Amino acid sequence: MRGSRIVLAGRPSIGRCRRSFTTASDAPALRCVVSGGGITGIAASIALRQAGHQVTTVDGAKMLGEQYHGLATMLPANAMAALQDLGVAAEVEAQAQSLERLVLIGEKGDKLFGEVDLNATAAELGLSGGFHGIELETLHKILHTRLKQCSKGVKHPVALGTSIKKIGLSPDGALQILFNGKGVKSAKNTHLLVGADGVGSHVRGTVGGEDPKLEFGGCGVWHLILQKRPDSVDPHTAVEVWGAGSRLGLLPLPGGKLFCYGAVSRRAPQPDSPKTRVAAFLKAFEGFHGYGCEHVLAAVVDGHAGTVDIAFDYPPYVTSATWHSDRTVLLGDAAHAFPHCSAAVYQGQSLAACLGDTTALLRALSASACDVPTGLAAFVGARQQAVDAEQAAAKKVTTESQQSTARGSSIRKWIQSAALSAIGGVGSLGYPALLRSSLKKL
Ligand SMILES: Cc1cc2nc3c(=O)[nH]c(=O)nc-3n(C[C@H](O)[C@H](O)[C@H](O)COP(=O)(O)OP(=O)(O)OC[C@H]3O[C@@H](n4cnc5c(N)ncnc54)[C@H](O)[C@@H]3O)c2cc1C
Repeated sequence: MRGSRIVLAGRPSIGRCRRSFTTASDAPALRCVVSGGGITGIAASIALRQAGHQVTTVDGAKMLGEQYHGLATMLPANAMAALQDLGVAAEVEAQAQSLERLVLIGEKGDKLFGEVDLNATAAELGLSGGFHGIELETLHKILHTRLKQCSKGVKHPVALGTSIKKIGLSPDGALQILFNGKGVKSAKNTHLLVGADGVGSHVRGTVGGEDPKLEFGGCGVWHLILQKRPDSVDPHTAVEVWGAGSRLGLLPLPGGKLFCYGAVSRRAPQPDSPKTRVAAFLKAFEGFHGYGCEHVLAAVVDGHAGTVDIAFDYPPYVTSATWHSDRTVLLGDAAHAFPHCSAAVYQGQSLAACLGDTTALLRALSASACDVPTGLAAFVGARQQAVDAEQAAAKKVTTESQQSTARGSSIRKWIQSAALSAIGGVGSLGYPALLRSSLKKL
């Protein structure tokens, strides 16, 4: 899955930033390059600019955000807290659907495995933002607009069609970066390089350590956005309907739309063809019932729901052992992608982790007073454990779902505490102890 490697030239870094960094007011403190203009890269660029740093952001694609077409997610309260830090929470709330409940039922609609009061959950964790459903394209656009606001005087805050070609080191350890493409040619004396270039990250090759494998996520996923939500689907309830080895999810969106995803557990990728995709989706969830999911399936069958843009994906994930070197750090999916078909309780946590990474990085840099290597080490130390735990839990949920009909009651036992813990703690550098203790119970 990896493309060509970036060439790292020069001598080893001595690793200290000469200029001290304590507050945003002594800007610009650091010269930064962010590789990747997805949600993580844009969020990181905003956070760095807000703190007064100089930022060059590049993306290899010719258009930004195309990967998000047709995708939506639940934005949990911890993601909202990070969006608050980035100055876009109000805009996101205005363009998202507020959610009150998350329910998990059996495929026949007669068993309730779990129910989470989302507002009570957020309040219990001291998070005020609530839970929302949003299209990823919308979220990316909001963040991009915010980046433009934070980049006054910069014509193109993200240089498109541009990627890193070569990295060298100056005698004092700063990075000398050369780019491919027309947007920007070089970034001299760079203090910090952020690799936010997704699960197939090229920057990952420069941080040392073993080159991690992209792993098959353990399932195939269909996703579609219905333009008109059936009346039987509650606009404030997110639903997952679990069969044996398959899960159908409904996520209300603003404007009367509905995001629907179907996940089937698989040991290896299966052949997929756009011609047979809709039929395969309907076959996988034939007979699923409850909370209006039967009407969603019927709407797909007879085309009454507006345009159904059904796509199928085998999301890979990666467990990277090494996230940073002296002056380079990986964020978001470049560092850690989760198996994306994890259960409802983890929904939104891939994205929440991407957003949480950016605010945690800024806190760590700020606390280290411009000592970039120290700040990066603190950031990674704080995040690694939580992300490892989250990945393990997501894997566990994928396995559990294969026997979900037989084991509904055991799932019910842990699902509420796991839901609580999974969304906890964006306010500090890492997730709170709550996460670790409840994961022990799984
Ligand atoms: C099918 C699917 C369903 C998902 N569902 C959910 C969900 O329900 N909830 C949830 O929380 N998350 C979900 N996710 C995950 C979520 O979308 C990701 O965690 C998040 O978008 C990662 O953002 P990112 O910016 O880190 O990476 P990406 O979105 O992958 O962005 C990486 C960017 O880097 C650029 N790039 C790549 N290589 C280079 C290079 N060499 N040089 C320069 N730029 C480069 C790319 O063009 C891209 O713009 C889903 C993902 C998929 C695929």
